[in-house]
Amino acid sequence: MALITETTLRAMLRSGIPNPYLVRAEDKFTPAAMDFLKGRGIKVEAFQSSEAFSQNSEQKSALRIPVGVSNRHVHLSPEDVEKLFGAGYQLTPLRPLSQPGQFAAKETVTLLGPKGSITGVRILGPARGASQVEISKTDGFVLGIHPPIRVSGSLEGTPGITLIGPKGFVSLPAGVIVAKCHVHMSDTDARASGVQEGDSVMLQMSGERALIFPDVTVRVSNRYALDFHIDLDEANAANLSTGDHVHLIGKNGKLFSTAGRW
Ligand SMILES: [Zn+2]
Repeated sequence: MALITETTLRAMLRSGIPNPYLVRAEDKFTPAAMDFLKGRGIKVEAFQSSEAFSQNSEQKSALRIPVGVSNRHVHLSPEDVEKLFGAGYQLTPLRPLSQPGQFAAKETVTLLGPKGSITGVRILGPARGASQVEISKTDGFVLGIHPPIRVSGSLEGTPGITLIGPKGFVSLPAGVIVAKCHVHMSDTDARASGVQEGDSVMLQMSGERALIFPDVTVRVSNRYALDFHIDLDEANAANLSTGDHVHLIGKNGKLFSTAGRW
């Protein structure tokens, strides 16, 4: 808070007192200072200028991010595709995913853990370097394994699982994770929103179960389409479905300032 006195104003006379005189809501005037301004026909206005406000709402509306909910799924190395489906086998695309070039395959496998199994688990293609299994915490209770929350590809120290296909099985020594929620952005989206690869952003969802996700990892690549990826447990907790939208409200633990800048 600032206390604005007649002395403050007199000192400004030489450079000229702006009209209207802009103050923040919490600023206070002495009665003499008020009289001083009134006597010179200077109006007092709150600093919340319409310009700053519209900048803010513009920025927010530009950062509306679609939601993609991932159910449990498997990424397979080419060798593991052959072990499960037969020599020379190629995955069959069923439908494209939000990320260019990625697809949900027609093929599914069974996950077998120490406590139970889950059938009909979708394979996502194309085949990649190392096999990786992404499940929810809830799935972990069914299977009897409790993988850590990790970003894709960070598989060191993760538990393994057995995959069963129509032509064979694979016992992975490691590779099961609960995927950490993340947002995919193109270079252009990232630049427009002032974030970079590896940043942590805060996303807010509205609706009947309004929640804030305060630590969402940013993945930036020219190959990516804007999409907020969460697993089924997170989606249910927030009452979100694929195609809903969330808003970017801050980054690296800090909310946007009211002026709409980082
Ligand atoms: Zn993703």
